[in-house]
Amino acid sequence: MTCLFRLVVLFVSLFLGAEASAQQKVLLPEKLERPTVTDDKGVVQWAPWKGVKCQGCSGSGKVKCDVCDRFGDDATNCPDCKRSKERLAVCRICAGTGELADPLDKVACPGCQGAAFQLCSVCGGGGRLKIGGAKQWSDCPSCRGDGAFKCGTCNGSRLVEPAALKPSLREASVKDLAKAITVVDAALTEVGAIEPAGGDKARKSVKALVKACDTAGGTFPPLKRLGKPFEDFMGKIYAGKQFQGSAENEANTIANAKKSAEYYLKHQKRMLDLAHKRAEANAKLAGEQKGK
Ligand SMILES: [Zn+2]
Ligand SMILES: [Zn+2]
Ligand SMILES: [Zn+2]
Ligand SMILES: [Zn+2]
Repeated sequence: MTCLFRLVVLFVSLFLGAEASAQQKVLLPEKLERPTVTDDKGVVQWAPWKGVKCQGCSGSGKVKCDVCDRFGDDATNCPDCKRSKERLAVCRICAGTGELADPLDKVACPGCQGAAFQLCSVCGGGGRLKIGGAKQWSDCPSCRGDGAFKCGTCNGSRLVEPAALKPSLREASVKDLAKAITVVDAALTEVGAIEPAGGDKARKSVKALVKACDTAGGTFPPLKRLGKPFEDFMGKIYAGKQFQGSAENEANTIANAKKSAEYYLKHQKRMLDLAHKRAEANAKLAGEQKGK
C-alpha cells in the first residue's frame, strides 16, 4: 500500500515543461523522482515501477501534432502525424505506450529526444518549397520530400538505454556511480560551452558536439551512436545553403541537437544522483552492521 501511495505522489512530482519552440512537452529531468522502499533489513530498495500513466498524453499514447501546425491546409505530408485525419502524433514521452518507462532503464534518445526522426529544417518538415518566387512547389533539396530523416541513434525506437554500468545503473556500486557522475558533469560542461553557429562555422560546431558526445560515449553508449548520424543529417541540411537565412537555420539546427544531447545528460545525471544516494545509504548500513 505504501508503495502505491508513493507512486501517486510521484505523479504530482513529474512536472511537465514546454520547449521554447513549438515542440511536444518533455519531463523536466531535474524534477524526476524514483521512489524507493526500505525493506525489513533496513536496505533501501527501488520501489516497483508499473502502470505509471504518462502525463504527456494522459495515457492515450497520442498527442496533437505540433509539427504540421503551421503548414498550409493543402499540406499533404507531415513526418509525424502523416496528416492523418485527427492529426495525432505519437507521444514522445512514453513512445506511444501511454505508460512511463522506468527512468532507471529508459531515457529519451539524445539524437531525437523521442521523436524518432530529425526534422528537416530546410523545409520545416513539409518536404516542399517555393524556390525563387516560383508559384509551384518543388521537393525540398535536403530531404527530397520526406520532411525528416529517421533517427540513426535510436533507429526510430525513441527511448534508449542509460549509462552502461555493472550490473546496471540501479545496482551499481558507490564508486562506479561516482565515476559516471564525473563523466556526466564533464560532458554537460563541454556540451554547454558549445555555441552553435552556422555558415562557415557550422562544421566546427558539429565537430565540437560530436567530440563531447564521443568522449562520454564510453559510459553512455547512446552518445557514442550519436556522432555519425548527426554528421550525416547536417550534411543534408547543408544542401539548403542556397537559401536565404541558411546560416541562421544551420545554427538553430545544431542548437536543437545540443539541446537533445543535454536533455539525455541531465536525465542521466538525475538518475545517477538518486542511485548514488541509495548506494551510499546501503553501504553505510552494511558498514554499521559489520561493526556490530
Ligand atoms: Zn505519453
Ligand atoms: Zn503533423
Ligand atoms: Zn526538407
Ligand atoms: Zn533517436
